[in-house]
Amino acid sequence: MKRVLISLSLVASLAMAGATAVEWGFDDKKGPANWGDLAPEFHICKTGANQSPVNLTDFIEADLAPLKINYTTKSESVVNKGTTVQVNFAKGSSFSTDGETFNLIQYHFHTPSENHINGKSYPMEVHFVHASDKGELAVIAVMFEEGKANSQLQVIVDNMPMKKGDENSLEKVAFNPLDLLPADKDYYKFNGSLTTPPCSEGVRWQVMKAPVEMSKEQLAAFSKVMGQNNRPVLPLNARKVMQ
Ligand SMILES: [Zn+2]
Repeated sequence: MKRVLISLSLVASLAMAGATAVEWGFDDKKGPANWGDLAPEFHICKTGANQSPVNLTDFIEADLAPLKINYTTKSESVVNKGTTVQVNFAKGSSFSTDGETFNLIQYHFHTPSENHINGKSYPMEVHFVHASDKGELAVIAVMFEEGKANSQLQVIVDNMPMKKGDENSLEKVAFNPLDLLPADKDYYKFNGSLTTPPCSEGVRWQVMKAPVEMSKEQLAAFSKVMGQNNRPVLPLNARKVMQ
């Protein structure tokens, strides 16, 4: 299935992040501290100066334009990748920023959150991964906090496979991922990387300021399937976080 031009390096690295032959994970040996040494193509995991995730802090006031988000209900499937639970998307959902359109490819979850906001970690974070026709990547991230049960999230809980490598179809499920975003769509913006190998940089990050709620049972369901799958925060270095 050809969603974007595959010759472009960032998108190629995204594909590699999904299906690389080199095994990586979150345990001691193959975990984040060693990713940069597992394969030559992962070297930027340890040498990159613009890595994700980060602790979002020292914000710069900027006049950020509202994100124009056009998500549809075309979910294809939910996959247990071993390293995360991922929902794949059919073409047709996108968002626009900086005059450029980014198509939603997939979204996936991390327990606990990868990014921190002012030093605070959240119990879970979702990453909506997009690519432009030019092959540039952009992520919209949303934090989850414990509270009321989230009826939209429950659709994924009800369909997620327990076994690594398994995939369940969502084609008959009417579900718009826009419902996983907070009503208030104010966001932080900065440059970063993929948070999993090959850790490619040049990814535009948008992190929603407002968290959304989920129940303790829903968090437990994700934790049971994914385990702890957060890369620790990395230094901002010269980067600024705009708000
Ligand atoms: Zn992620």
